Amino acid sequence: MFYKLVWPANGRFAACRPYKPSYIAAGHDDCPLCGRHMGGRYWEHPRTLEIEGTRFPDFLFPTPYPAVSERFVALYKASGLKGILGFEEIEHYRIRKTAARSDKYYTLTAMRSRMSINYQESEIDFGKGGHEHFCPLCDPQSRTIDRIKRLALNEEGYAGEDVFKLYATGNALYLSERFVDFVKKNRLTNLGLCPLDDFEKRMVL
Ligand SMILES: [Zn+2]
Repeated sequence: MFYKLVWPANGRFAACRPYKPSYIAAGHDDCPLCGRHMGGRYWEHPRTLEIEGTRFPDFLFPTPYPAVSERFVALYKASGLKGILGFEEIEHYRIRKTAARSDKYYTLTAMRSRMSINYQESEIDFGKGGHEHFCPLCDPQSRTIDRIKRLALNEEGYAGEDVFKLYATGNALYLSERFVDFVKKNRLTNLGLCPLDDFEKRMVL
């Protein structure tokens, strides 16, 4: 069973946003088949994160997606889990005067899995009309995805990753059952997720 990471917007913990960020195009994450640029935006250093609220969780949302605590980074590195390629520090913070000083947060980069979407068993709303671009890996339907209700994956491309993105769904992050167990065991806070077989079934750990 895999899960999709979602923002737990229930107000229990602080939320964040990059403060006056400078973004550049990241060229290191292109589709290996068609060469299409997948990387999105890269948040340049030095970075400042604005945090609203005074309860600091291990997974801080919504942007970047997510920022993770120092405690998470240390536990993850010792865990033997796979899929996170690296962590990058956020150097500066704007927090409320009443907030106890928070630990540092990091952004993460995750690998892309070679698993493809099983379109027969998934429930996906596509955008109207198709486009010219086609790629069996990153754009096999030549249509944009509007909404996913249920996602089934062809697991023959699975290489054991616990945190990953897919080529066909941009920067959405997916998690393995092992990863979810690791978060529960270590009582890490504010991980939002939904099982791939029902995107409506949102949970917060
Ligand atoms: Zn492609």
